[in-house]
Amino acid sequence: MSEMIKLPPRTGQIIYGPIYSRRIGVDIGINLLIQEGKTCNFNCVYCQYGVTGNPVDYRKLKNGWVKPELVYKALEKTLSNLLSERFKLDAVTFSGYGEPTLHPKFPSIVAKVKEIKENYYPTAKLTLITNSSMFKYKRILKTAELFDQILAKLDAATNKTFHSINRPVNEKLDIHTIIDSLIILSSTVKHFIIQTLLFNTIDQNITSNTSIEEMKALSEAICRIKPREVQVYTIVRAPAISAVKPASVNQLQELKKYIEERCGSNVNVKIY
Ligand code: SF4
Repeated sequence: MSEMIKLPPRTGQIIYGPIYSRRIGVDIGINLLIQEGKTCNFNCVYCQYGVTGNPVDYRKLKNGWVKPELVYKALEKTLSNLLSERFKLDAVTFSGYGEPTLHPKFPSIVAKVKEIKENYYPTAKLTLITNSSMFKYKRILKTAELFDQILAKLDAATNKTFHSINRPVNEKLDIHTIIDSLIILSSTVKHFIIQTLLFNTIDQNITSNTSIEEMKALSEAICRIKPREVQVYTIVRAPAISAVKPASVNQLQELKKYIEERCGSNVNVKIY
């Protein structure tokens, strides 16, 4: 789901990889969003997958989800093959073409995938890459606790900027509700990482997150969340909206500085 971490799976692929990334290592990806086009409850201006083809809000899309049995079968086959080749695996990651937590059977799929992973690769981290929007639902928050590692998106800490950047399907979605749920999760998940993508824009209708006000708000929210790590980065692939441009190295460093000034040594900030 998130920028930079992964190349998308090929259309129709439930399991993809192994893929190497600096932030996760070598992992196998799970794509629960098997439909044509991206399935997401956000439509981020910088999304590397283009404009959201299947905009869905929670539980609104009843059909078209990948069947859990197909996930289990494909995963068993992949892990068993890798193990027979003595392949080293760092993680099994829920990501894919959109937001994985939207799948109506996400909780039971995660529980079963964890069981399968334990059988083949007990030391590989069960990982989730998410836009953070669904943790306000108790069943998703509870399920998130099953993960060894979560990489959660936070691009803004004010509602105006959040809605301008991430453009959630639910126009009433409140960034402060999301931040509150991230505070809860950060204390329960071992490797809890915030991912923040900074960008600039030449479109006056889009609010970028590189202003001093937004960086201050972001750093304050991050101090309250207390993640194990913050990954600050910018656009590296063609964005959904062409008026959106990468942030400069100075801007990335500026946010790092703001966070470190406010949070002290409690939070490890990395620029990618
Ligand atoms: S959350 Fe944003 S970046 Fe991630 S898939 Fe959805 S629209 Fe793209």
